[in-house]
Amino acid sequence: MIPSLSPDSLEAWLLWQQQLQPFTFGAKFAEEINSSVSEEITRAFMNAGIISAQTMAFSVPPAAKKAEEAIDESLPPLEKVRIRAGRCEACRLAAKRTNMVFGEGNPDADIMFIGEGPGEDEDLSGRPFVGKAGQLLTKIIENGMKIPREQVYIANIVKCRPPANRDPMPDEAQCCIGFLKEQIKIVNPKVLILLGKVAMKNLLGIDGSMTKAREATYEYEGIKVFVTYHPSALLRNESFKRPVWEDIKKAMKYLGMM
Ligand code: URA
Repeated sequence: MIPSLSPDSLEAWLLWQQQLQPFTFGAKFAEEINSSVSEEITRAFMNAGIISAQTMAFSVPPAAKKAEEAIDESLPPLEKVRIRAGRCEACRLAAKRTNMVFGEGNPDADIMFIGEGPGEDEDLSGRPFVGKAGQLLTKIIENGMKIPREQVYIANIVKCRPPANRDPMPDEAQCCIGFLKEQIKIVNPKVLILLGKVAMKNLLGIDGSMTKAREATYEYEGIKVFVTYHPSALLRNESFKRPVWEDIKKAMKYLGMM
């Protein structure tokens, strides 16, 4: 496939890249370049005898090397999932993230909120729902439900920020949803509250309008599910305030909180 390159020159080039980049462009740039040469391609070079196993080991992107490191089995279950999510490079969103935003809250929560994915504030801080929409969600929890935010668990469909806050694409959600499913299984809440259509579509497979979907309640793996508008929809349209509060009250009544 690459007849014009001799094995020696290719190997020398790869080694030279590895050694030069950190000094010339900084380690971050080198990491990006290395990550863009897929492990499979490098491995194919090695299998074809074009590069040595030593160069192969040198050329595998750092994230892939890290992904092979064992995870301490004695860690709490959510921590183990967090570590795997932090190493994930399965979709295009990983390359642009500042931080993977795993989720946070009480690992024994009765209530779990699920949003779409991190925005800019979340990407920068590594925490879910801390921007404007997040502040509104915190108000709903603390002023409306009268419980501390730390008492619930908050997560998203995707763990890395989609560019310009667009909706996650179906393949991105597909790559990521396994982590959320593990989080739900571990936290095992009594109630899931899905915030907006992206959460509804990806967890329940429902693609209709939110107005219609709110009229029903659902189940996911034996857990009661309520759906409501995303807080950012509320920020754009005040008229959603009342229906959101009605939905939250439904969940509270189900839990015997009122
Ligand atoms: N919107 C979301 O859906 N999730 C966040 O974490 C922040 C904003």
